[in-house]
Amino acid sequence: MSQSLTLALSKGRILDDTLPLLAAAGILPAEDISKSRKLIFDTNLPGVRLLVIRATDVPTYVELGAADLGVSGKDVLMEHGGSGMYEPLDLKIAVCKLMTASLKGSVQPEGRRRVATKFIKTAKRWYAEQGIQVDLIKLYGGMELAPIMGLADEIVDIVDTGKTLVANGLEAREFIADISSRLVVNRASMKMKYQQIQPLLDRLRLAVEQRSAASA
Ligand code: AMP
Repeated sequence: MSQSLTLALSKGRILDDTLPLLAAAGILPAEDISKSRKLIFDTNLPGVRLLVIRATDVPTYVELGAADLGVSGKDVLMEHGGSGMYEPLDLKIAVCKLMTASLKGSVQPEGRRRVATKFIKTAKRWYAEQGIQVDLIKLYGGMELAPIMGLADEIVDIVDTGKTLVANGLEAREFIADISSRLVVNRASMKMKYQQIQPLLDRLRLAVEQRSAASA
């Protein structure tokens, strides 16, 4: 008997790279996701549905079993924490780095450093490992503005081309982690729906390899 399978996708920039990969693995949405306001989509495969949700909500859906599988950035997974999910495949899309950055040429204060970021847990862990004392300031976007306005000495943010930093007079300093999107699987689903999930995993793995080979 074929069971239903729900795949939670991160909307935004990750989605643009996810859909071609799903297509290569034989999963096609029944309608054009970019032209719809719906959050749930049927696919060409019976019983296989796609959810299109905020990137930060994907681990929650998968961990709690509201979705069997998900596509989530490593930055989001690191910040979410916990070990409630399997992470069987690096999709090698939306590749970037998590870094610290500060105003070009600026010198960090001797004492506690004020750090603005949306990655509070990840930053807390990393600075503790470095033995650097920090006051963390939670922001939801536009982190680059914080050092300019004197709100923070430093930021922790995603860097891709580095153009956003340069455009705001900042420079990248320390490397924290390599980031890319991962396939995550709910632990119970992996056991209960293995017959359905395993071929999908194989097809996705092949699609990732073919994509890497084509761009090499
Ligand atoms: P860039 O100017 O190319 O370095 O891009 C940096 C900005 O784009 C950052 O402010 C990030 O928020 C965003 N960004 C770039 N790549 C990603 C990604 N893979 N996932 C999430 N955000 C990203």
